[in-house]
Amino acid sequence: MKNSGTKKPSSPKIIPRAAHTVSRDEFSKSALKVLYRLHKAGYQSFLVGGCVRDAMLDLHPKDFDVATNATPEEVRALFSNCRLIGRRFRLAHVRFGREIVEVATFRAAANHADDDHAHDEAGRIVRDNVYGSIDEDVWRRDFTCNSLYYNIADFSIWDYTGGVDDIKQRHIVLIGDPDKRLREDPVRMLRAVRFAAKLDFTIDDTVVEAIRQDRPLLANVPAARLFDEFLKMFQSGHAEQTFELLREHDLFSMLFPDTDKELNRDEAFLEFVLAALRNTDKRVRSNQSVTPMFLIGVFLWNPVRKHASRLRSKEKMSESQSLSLAAYELSGQQQRRIAIPRRFTVPMREMLALQPRFTQTRGKRGLNLLQHRRFRAAYDFMMLLASVGQFDEEMAKFWTRVQTESAEQRAASFQITASKKSKRRRRRRRRPAKAKSSS
Ligand code: ATP
Ligand code: MG
Repeated sequence: MKNSGTKKPSSPKIIPRAAHTVSRDEFSKSALKVLYRLHKAGYQSFLVGGCVRDAMLDLHPKDFDVATNATPEEVRALFSNCRLIGRRFRLAHVRFGREIVEVATFRAAANHADDDHAHDEAGRIVRDNVYGSIDEDVWRRDFTCNSLYYNIADFSIWDYTGGVDDIKQRHIVLIGDPDKRLREDPVRMLRAVRFAAKLDFTIDDTVVEAIRQDRPLLANVPAARLFDEFLKMFQSGHAEQTFELLREHDLFSMLFPDTDKELNRDEAFLEFVLAALRNTDKRVRSNQSVTPMFLIGVFLWNPVRKHASRLRSKEKMSESQSLSLAAYELSGQQQRRIAIPRRFTVPMREMLALQPRFTQTRGKRGLNLLQHRRFRAAYDFMMLLASVGQFDEEMAKFWTRVQTESAEQRAASFQITASKKSKRRRRRRRRPAKAKSSS
């Protein structure tokens, strides 16, 4: 048990440049430009948060958060390439080509704020716009490892919370009273898990205990924010470890309840999900594209299949139709918790509904699948099932092979022998018989 974040010293421990390993080479030119210009204009100017933490861990930070005593309007006056954003939390974005440096004005902790309406009934912060000084700003940050300030004036690091020690000990420690901090913002539970997974840190016992108590509060978090957090958790190259920790702390059930139930009763499904997470991590780390619809499809696969077979037992429909309808209904339910945009749920449904068609390797219909706009995703999904023995290996090989074949070879593979002309004749002759048999 550690408690380094609970005291509130009003002056920081200042670690001079010679006594720490954080070099300016770790920071982008754009971030340094912003820092220097603020400093020259007479403002305090620090890097803060993840970039300082990651630089200490030799993790090469990619995004940079600047903290200053300049107000957003004062920041805008200094930079022509600057835009003010956010209502709940007003920020300046300074743009350099594709890079954005985020500049935040020091805030006072919410409980210091002279505003009763800054919290909702559950204690959740709903507004956070009262400016303050750095020694107030530090206490509203989440974890000690995220609360270090790098001062551009002399390259020192300011540590109010014991963050340097906690980074050395690879510990995730909440600043202040853990229960209160999780109540203020339940998303911090997910952030604890995300940082533990990314940094290979241990979540401190005090935080684990508070999570156990407060996990139901995740139900109060707006669904849109949970989708943002979902992306960070599952598309940053540490999805598998994040998933394991979410399950360990019983938080996954708060995000994907139907999936969680299935994972508990079906080991094969768990194996499939783990294979998908590993695959996603591999893709992210090798800079291949990833889409959230794929993993969401994986998470919903078992619940959707079950629901689809229920639907088929009630009403006559094809397997594909039932999968599509089931995916529609369950993704609707899921969206109430995590706001997955329609541009992901629609292709996800198609991807799942196409799965039965991979068993049809003869005839035009089989061949046509190759042209389907969702073929690629559906194929990847099927291959993943095959990789864990949940789809026929020979059929999977067939679909891999036909993609590289010529038109003639494909016709042979799908056993399409008739020429266009004779086929048309045959179809015409068959039509009356077909109509009879289908009625
Ligand atoms: P990464 O960018 O790797 O996800 P980060 O620590 O930079 O990690 P951000 O979400 O970019 O995380 O936030 C920047 C900083 O703002 C954090 O380091 C933390 O100090 C503070 N912060 C962000 N979100 C919260 C929160 N929900 N509660 C308290 N402080 C927060
Ligand atoms: Mg960041």
